[in-house]
Amino acid sequence: MKRILAAISSFVMPRVCPVCRRSLLTAETLMCTPCLAALPRSVMHLRPDANSLASRVSRPAHRTAFAAAWFDYDRHSPYAALVRDAKLSSKPAISREAGRLFAMEMLADGCAPLLHDIDVLLPVPMHWSRLMRRGFNQSREVAQGISLATGIPVGDNLVATRAHRSQTRGTAQHRLTNVAGIAALRSPAELHGLHIAIVDDVVTTGATMCDAIRAVEEASPRAISVLALGAVHSDEWVFNDKQGL
Ligand SMILES: [Zn+2]
Repeated sequence: MKRILAAISSFVMPRVCPVCRRSLLTAETLMCTPCLAALPRSVMHLRPDANSLASRVSRPAHRTAFAAAWFDYDRHSPYAALVRDAKLSSKPAISREAGRLFAMEMLADGCAPLLHDIDVLLPVPMHWSRLMRRGFNQSREVAQGISLATGIPVGDNLVATRAHRSQTRGTAQHRLTNVAGIAALRSPAELHGLHIAIVDDVVTTGATMCDAIRAVEEASPRAISVLALGAVHSDEWVFNDKQGL
C-alpha cells in the first residue's frame, strides 16, 4: 500500500531535489536533507518588527503586522529553482510543499500566536489569461501549503484586473508604475475588520505586494501581513524582478 501511495505521489511531487537534482529519499518531500539544511533562511519571522521585507512593503498609512519570507532569494542561486521550477515546469506541488514547510518551521520557532492571529490568506492574484496558460497560480499554491500547516483559510477576494507586462526591462520607477492598479478586491465587506495575510511566491521590488496591499486596504482590515517563500535583499532588487526569473 505504501508503495502504491509513493508511486501515486511521484506524479504529484517531483522525486528529484529541485536544488541539486539528486533523487529524493522516501522521507524527503521537497528537497534533499542537505539542501534543506543549507537553505539560506531569512529568519525574518524571528524579527517580526524589524526586517527588510516589512520595511519594503510598509506604507505611511499602514504598518505591516507580520512580514516573513522563508529564504533570501537570489535568482543566480540553485535555490531559485524552488520558485522557477514550480512556474516553468508546471509543478504546483513544489510551491504548495514549500509553503507547508515554511509554515511548519515558523510554528516550530514559536510563531503560532502571530500566525493564528491571521484570519485569512489572500494569494497575490494572477490574471485569468496567464492562469489559462500556466494552469495554476503559484501564490495560491503557497497559500494552500501554509493553510495545510496552520488551518488558516485561503480566500479568493484578490483578483487581477489586467495582465502586467514583463518587468525584466525598464527602470525601477517604470517597474513600480507597471503593476500599479492591477490588484482589486472582490466582496470587500467580507474582509472588514479581519487580519489579512497576503501571500506571494517571491517578493523582489515589492511593487506587486504593495499594489495588493493597496487593494486590501479598501476593506479596512484590522491588520495586514505579508508572507512569501523568497525575498530579495532590498539593495539587490533593482536588478531582479519576479518576471525576470
Ligand atoms: Zn538537494
